[in-house]
Amino acid sequence: MHWDSDGNVWIKISDIHTQAYCEYQLKFSWQGINPKSEAMLAGTIRHAELQTEHAERMKDAPKMSVEEALRLGVRGSGRELRIKSGEHFIYGKIDEIQFAENAIFIIDDKPSGKVYPSSMNQARAYALAFASEYPPAKPVFSAVRDRNTGEALWMEEFTDEVKSNIIEIVERVRKLARKEIDFIPTTKPFKCRPCRFNSICDRRATE
Ligand code: SF4
Repeated sequence: MHWDSDGNVWIKISDIHTQAYCEYQLKFSWQGINPKSEAMLAGTIRHAELQTEHAERMKDAPKMSVEEALRLGVRGSGRELRIKSGEHFIYGKIDEIQFAENAIFIIDDKPSGKVYPSSMNQARAYALAFASEYPPAKPVFSAVRDRNTGEALWMEEFTDEVKSNIIEIVERVRKLARKEIDFIPTTKPFKCRPCRFNSICDRRATE
């Protein structure tokens, strides 16, 4: 999250993922709080290892701007594309965009074989950013892919209905950043247990 010189708040698209998990996490992370227990450090190291393995697998994949990827024409793909939408004030990095003959696929890689609503919203927000900056002439699909197996786990067309729902969520997160509304904590203990803010959170859900 950051503010521009015109006083607009910009949201990192990964924060859309956090919002669906628990808005209270945003409150802590935007304050710069970053508690680390031994278990979390171990998790961070494992995450770094997975990132390294993923980077190794992807090292020969082309890195390019969205403009370059679009120039590839009807067939082709681009990886690790930075995107920002001046219309919706969101920014992030799309893992891959595939341009097929009749559709465009916006793909987000996730490390586990499960797809949660938070991952779906993040993928939808990437599609929102892409479609607002590069109005597509063909249908756009959001997809979540298993980073380890390359298997597509979830896919959805970015319809007008999906678009208006994700705009509502983006606007909610921007209101949270502007302190216009309260952060709502999750009520689900299974989300609080692994949460990195669990030891300092005053709204932690218990069984
Ligand atoms: S402990 Fe629970 S309520 Fe608190 S920030 Fe973490 S997930 Fe949210």
